[in-house]
Amino acid sequence: MRLAAELTLVGGRFEPELGVGIADGRVTELAPLVAAAGAAPETLLLPGKALLPGTVNAHCHSFQSLLRGLGDDLDFIGWRDRVLYPYSSRLDREGIYLGAAFAFTEMLLHGATTCVDFFYLQDEGNENAQAVIQAARDTGIRLVLARAMYDWDGAPRRYREEPRVAAQRVSELIRAHASDPMITIQPAPHSPHGASAAMIRAGWEVAEAHDTAFTIASPPALKPARPGTFPAVPQLPFRSAATQPWN
Ligand SMILES: [Zn+2]
Repeated sequence: MRLAAELTLVGGRFEPELGVGIADGRVTELAPLVAAAGAAPETLLLPGKALLPGTVNAHCHSFQSLLRGLGDDLDFIGWRDRVLYPYSSRLDREGIYLGAAFAFTEMLLHGATTCVDFFYLQDEGNENAQAVIQAARDTGIRLVLARAMYDWDGAPRRYREEPRVAAQRVSELIRAHASDPMITIQPAPHSPHGASAAMIRAGWEVAEAHDTAFTIASPPALKPARPGTFPAVPQLPFRSAATQPWN
């Protein structure tokens, strides 16, 4: 089929009167609309619309989509202690799948075709992460699962793992999805407050071993002084660290 929007983003500029051919879910042709129209078996006109590549949601916690509206008037710590921790402790695997499917569908409807899900409801395994991955497959979004590694004992029990075991599980998940172009797994030691130095190091070692990116949440007071450094754990060469907001 061919899409004919009022404007199409090409090379960083919006251009009028272009037809975008699509087959098997891929863009196959970009041609002036007049020339393309003759050969087009099926052209979908999109008046008043602009056509552009999908955007990336670089940080979310998909299961939290089910907590919306709860504690909106609380500050972060109040919301964490009175909403996030108690409600996420009651979420079963079906709820985790449902929250992810809801979040991913909403993103797709608004033009985000890739999502980084910073996921930490592990229950000492990978089955919950697999439920999120299944939700991505079922909705069609491209998923980067930042598989969190958490061992701060102030957090709910189901978030927490031993560093060595967490590293093994992340490695297993990376291997299980290595050949899937729609799914990417990254180790994600939660943060300097949610992960011990041993956990952060374990995550970094997984990233090095599998040549993946490495995600860690960064509280505002602990922003890297410059690229490649981190004040809380200065002994680690954060070659590929991507810092994230801290919840
Ligand atoms: Zn967050």
